[in-house]
Amino acid sequence: MTTWSRSNTLALAHPKCTQCHGLGMRRTQKHKEGRACNCVLRAIFRACYNRFRYCLEKEKHISHATLDISPGGSDRRFHWGRKDEEYVADFFLVSRRTLTEAEWKLFRFHFLLGANWRLCAARLGVDRGTFFHAVYRVEQKLGKVFMELRPYALFPLDEYFGGTVRNEEPVSPPDPDPLPEAAMPLPFPARPAATLLREELGGGAARSVVPIRPPVTVKRPVANVVPERKAA
Ligand SMILES: [Zn+2]
Repeated sequence: MTTWSRSNTLALAHPKCTQCHGLGMRRTQKHKEGRACNCVLRAIFRACYNRFRYCLEKEKHISHATLDISPGGSDRRFHWGRKDEEYVADFFLVSRRTLTEAEWKLFRFHFLLGANWRLCAARLGVDRGTFFHAVYRVEQKLGKVFMELRPYALFPLDEYFGGTVRNEEPVSPPDPDPLPEAAMPLPFPARPAATLLREELGGGAARSVVPIRPPVTVKRPVANVVPERKAA
């Protein structure tokens, strides 16, 4: 879990923020020790979003593979990766997973498809103020998640692209419920249908089982030969 402190929020805070007065941390009734101000969370989101756009828009031949170390204590291994493409995928998938359906619709229109507030407000059926309040909420929500994501956060960007190795275990979702027996996959190799049918019908009827095949007809090509005219 990320520990929010003034040292990692001060540089990101808006100097004219009325909530934190440029300090990056503010205390609320729920968070007596202080929490990151919304201006900091929005700054984190915008830094990640700018990097996402840069990775998408730059020429593909500039992207290159890098050799990274995978975590694992003494059993570390090297693997090749393409950081730009990984970052684009992480940004998209984390956003999709975090946002609600309504938030995702706004995020897709405004941030992914690039529609301005007039188009988005008309499409979503809201006024200008409601639209920008929703944009701020989406930015704050994603900024917090991008910073607190473990083991590899999307922010700070230098840690993501610099190959910082963490040995923390990723938090994986719980295993899904086991499939009912009827839905379990067949063992491989599965018996062919003709064998099953032969067993059900018994040995006597087995000989009468004829596999169904579509009628096969071969059309012979018609020779299109023009007879040569004899010279007069
Ligand atoms: Zn602030």
